Amino acid sequence: VTATTTFQQCPQCHSRALARVNSDPPWCTECEWNLAQWQKPQAEHWQKRSGVRRWARVLRDRRRAFAMNQRLLRELRGGLPDKPSLTRAGVILAAASALLLIFDIALLVGGTFLLVTGTWPLRLLAVIMILTGYECRLRFPKIERHSEVSRDEAPNLWAAVDQARAALGAPAIDRLVISSEYNAWCGHTGFRRRTVLGLGLPLWGALSPAGRQALLGHELGHLVNGDPATSFATQPALTTFATLAEVFDPDDLVDADNVIHELLATIVAYLVYWPVHRVCRGAQKVLRRIAAEDHQRAEIYADALGVRLGGSDGAEEVDRALLFEDAVMIALRRAAADSADPQVWRAEAAAALAERTTDLVVAEQRSMRYETRWFADHPPSGLRVRLIRSWPRTRPTVPIDTRAMAAIDRELARSYKTAQRAILNGALD
Ligand SMILES: [Zn+2]
Ligand SMILES: [Zn+2]
Repeated sequence: VTATTTFQQCPQCHSRALARVNSDPPWCTECEWNLAQWQKPQAEHWQKRSGVRRWARVLRDRRRAFAMNQRLLRELRGGLPDKPSLTRAGVILAAASALLLIFDIALLVGGTFLLVTGTWPLRLLAVIMILTGYECRLRFPKIERHSEVSRDEAPNLWAAVDQARAALGAPAIDRLVISSEYNAWCGHTGFRRRTVLGLGLPLWGALSPAGRQALLGHELGHLVNGDPATSFATQPALTTFATLAEVFDPDDLVDADNVIHELLATIVAYLVYWPVHRVCRGAQKVLRRIAAEDHQRAEIYADALGVRLGGSDGAEEVDRALLFEDAVMIALRRAAADSADPQVWRAEAAAALAERTTDLVVAEQRSMRYETRWFADHPPSGLRVRLIRSWPRTRPTVPIDTRAMAAIDRELARSYKTAQRAILNGALD
């Protein structure tokens, strides 16, 4: 959906540059009057009052998320931020995690003790304690390995990653995964917490060498900066209550094929499970909300490392490719129809982005209004582009090696063919 410009006058700055999307309230592209306004629910469109209430809640959450994004904008604009400092949210999450870990160990140890020494009714309680404690244990999720590329298969890509890593002081990457997503990511896998870097070829292939370097900088930046929302130290705070809410979900308990049995089971399930379920779900929401602001801040700190590694132009290119994702996808689909050669993809994508330089400010505003979510993976891409543009122009710390990037494309030729099929089948995220 693109924004159209109307020629009404802004009541705040009197410019005649209001923009609007569909029938939503217009906003001023000059002073951003009305940007944090969304379509109000209209009673006649909603048969039920609960629908209106739900929509009102959505709007309230959206206003809060918008205000949070504005706080990040004020806090981080102007100067390229350095490593993030310890935040209040980080401290709260770490403390909550420590308490929950103690609680979990207490369940397991106390349960075992009761099982050995207790009477029969107490032993029943002991089994519940042990099973609950076991469900809430620390998890070491594994990342699928099927599209992993080894150092032998892609020596140039590994060399680029190693060079970027050395420049930013990032820890070693253990595994490199290639996918067909319009995306890139970085994380830990398994009990040994090996680091994995994932590169989606549609995005990687659409970027210039500087853009790719900035993308590497952003992803490795997550390893350098840390992020309380994904860190191991805060895992109990962010998962324990979710697990408990799931364990004590009354809806999962009832499974009878007789109406009367089902009714009885439902009543008991709600009496016993529901209170625990609600309390845990509430606690989970509070903790996730605390983590979310830090998570979005971490994305911007990662963008700052993207700027250091790939320069301002490279980093801006990445975030613009995300801001104009729809246009780039159309360009990629056109290019992929004829070719699996990323040179062709990049030319089409660059042309699509160049067409959209004039409406950049309106697109930023549109993204800040419509992509603002408290629990989003990333802050609105419009906000990210705006911050990068507000930072002093920076040159890349590692020189951009166009020939090395071309060599990477050659060694990934087979993976590009897979990505081409995914683009043409529309099987992308
Ligand atoms: Zn105005
Ligand atoms: Zn990120």
